[in-house]
Formats: sequence, structure tokens, C-alpha cells
Amino acid sequence: MDSAGLYIHIPFCRKACSYCDFHFTVNQKNRAQICDALVSEMVLWKEDWCNYHFQTLYFGGGTPSILNSDELSAVVNGAKSNFSWGDEVEFTLEINPEDVTLEKLHSWKELGVNRLSIGLQAFQDEILTWMNRAHSAEEGLRAVRLAQEVGFDNISVDLIYGIPGLTHSQWEENLTKVLELNIQHVSCYCLTVEEKTKLEQMVKNGELTMPEDEVSTTQFDMLSSFFEGNGFNHYEISNLGKPGKESKHNSNYWNGVPYLGIGPSAHSYRKGKRWWNPASNALYQKEISKGNLPNEIEILSETDAFNEKIMTGLRRKDGVSVHLWLESGESPKNILQNSVINELYREGMISLSRDRLSLTQKGRHLADGIAAKLFR
Ligand code: SF4
Repeated sequence: MDSAGLYIHIPFCRKACSYCDFHFTVNQKNRAQICDALVSEMVLWKEDWCNYHFQTLYFGGGTPSILNSDELSAVVNGAKSNFSWGDEVEFTLEINPEDVTLEKLHSWKELGVNRLSIGLQAFQDEILTWMNRAHSAEEGLRAVRLAQEVGFDNISVDLIYGIPGLTHSQWEENLTKVLELNIQHVSCYCLTVEEKTKLEQMVKNGELTMPEDEVSTTQFDMLSSFFEGNGFNHYEISNLGKPGKESKHNSNYWNGVPYLGIGPSAHSYRKGKRWWNPASNALYQKEISKGNLPNEIEILSETDAFNEKIMTGLRRKDGVSVHLWLESGESPKNILQNSVINELYREGMISLSRDRLSLTQKGRHLADGIAAKLFR
């Protein structure tokens, strides 16, 4: 049986963070109905995925920890009963500090959750306030400690850099605080201004000024050297883990392992085909209740597939294999004479070792642009 991953999107949050453009609602009215629809969608997919062994289960959102234990266990049981599972499943739950109680932590453990991804983002209350996060810095620290007391030993935390007003010394303070928490994994994102977000308005109104690019690139370099110097593997541009604690779910996704996404806005991929559900709870629920799978489909051309491998491969520390070019019909001589590759190498953006091409630290700042240069 082939391996696969299962992603379940929980489209509810307590508050709308000012920078966020993910699909969610703060209206909790239809939570029970959406949970029912998630299970119904799994039933609709059951037969189509019966030849796959699921190795990872990932609850993302939105805020999965907002669900009460009955809601979450109904969805988890739906996943367990409709698909076949490997022996050592990595089961990740994204959680926010304000939801963390001893009771919830115990119920997550009983359900089989073995990896927590905690949205801390920053340790400055003034920043958390304008971000409209629903927790304080202290609550973030408390959530991690409580989870550890209950026995969670595979914890990832999310941090954001490139934040207006976040000085380099505050960023260093945040990195140190995270390290002192003795967690296993960190996901770090550069703050970006997405369309139609509160942050976009705040920047337009002049309430906030985004930092210069150099500030963000310096903070990215600080992140990398700080955690690599403390035994973490910076295995993907936004992800650093202790050896053996890299996210299996995301690594499989970057390696082209098929995954099924359940829930509004969830994306799926299998054998050159990608599809996604509507980013509307009402439409999703309506179609699922009629027994329809309301997804849009995209069949990847050979060029799309090549470009996608370049894009995801370059984000990873081990880069892209030159076999990618050989498999697509290029001769070894052509690859060696590829002017784009040679130029990137001369500029110190990429390194070549054995049969792999990967980004240097300098290149990592410009990953998307470099990938675009290598696209077909
Ligand atoms: S909690 Fe997460 S998903 Fe919800 S609004 Fe904030 S950043 Fe977005």
C-alpha cells in the first residue's frame, strides 16, 4: 500500500488576527454541523483512498483547539474508521494558548495526539495586542509548560519575524525564550501584508510601518544561526527541528507523497492532480450534505510538476536532485552548461554537492525568485 497524509481543516477562530488570510470564521454557530460535514466528507472519500496507508494526521485551521472534546473526538473517530492507518502515525494538532487547559490536554492525549503545534507568534504583549491575538505572552509560555507537564514531548511553536516595531534584540529575546522552553521544533514566518486583512488597512492608514527588507533578512539569519548553533536542523526555509523531530506531515508533502485535505478550503494532491474545497463553510456544508464533493480540480502538466518540484525542493535544506533535469530529458552536459544554474552558482546563491543543488544562506533570502529563474 502507498503512503498518504490526511489534513483536516477546522475553520473557526476566537478572534481574527490582523494579518491572517486563512479561511476561518469567528462565528461559532455552525461548529457542530461543520464537524458532521467533515466526517461525511471522509465517508465520501473512503473508497477512493482505500489503497493508501495514512502515516500522518494533521489538524490545522483556523484553530482546531477551539473544538470541545466531543466535537474533536467525533472527527478523529471519523478519520480512524474511514481510512487505514500505519503503526506509528504522526498526529499533529494546531493549538492556540488561550484554549489550553489540563482537561483539554488530557483529552488530546487520549485521542492519540502526539505532536502539538502551538501558535505563540511573539512574546511582546503590545505586538500580540495589535495583532489581535487572543492570548498574552505569559499565556503562551504557560500553554507550552502545561503541555509538557501532561507529557507532550513533540512540540512545535510558531513565531513571526519582520514585525513592525520588533527590534533585533527583542527577536533574540524571543528566540532565547523558545529555546529555554526546551521544545523540539520551530516554524517561523516573515510577516507579510495580505490583501483584505486588517494589517493591510493599518499599513495603508499609516498606523503601522512594515520594516525594511534588511530587517527581515537579518532576523531570518539570526533565527538560522541561533537554532543551528543549538542543535536544530534548519531543514526547510520556515522550519527548524531537533534531529528526528522534523515534521513528517510537511516533509511528505514536500516529497510529493499524496495527501487528502478534508474541510472548507482544504487542498489535496495525488499523482499529478490537485484539488481543493471551497473556502466557504456554508457552501461546503450544503454540498457535502447533498453527497457532493465540491472541489475544483487542476491536472498538473509536466511543466507544472517540474516547477513545483523546483519550488518545494529549493525550500528544503537538501535541495533538488539533478535527476529532476535528467528525468525530464536533459543531458548531463546541458545541465553543466545551464547558464542560469552557472550564474546562480557564481553569485553564491546556490551550492552544488554531489548530485544535489541547494540554496546557500544568501540564496534562501531570495528562494522564490531563484526558483522562478529555474522554472521551465
Ligand atoms: S488563530 Fe490562526 S487561523 Fe485564526 S485568525 Fe489567527 S492566525 Fe488566522
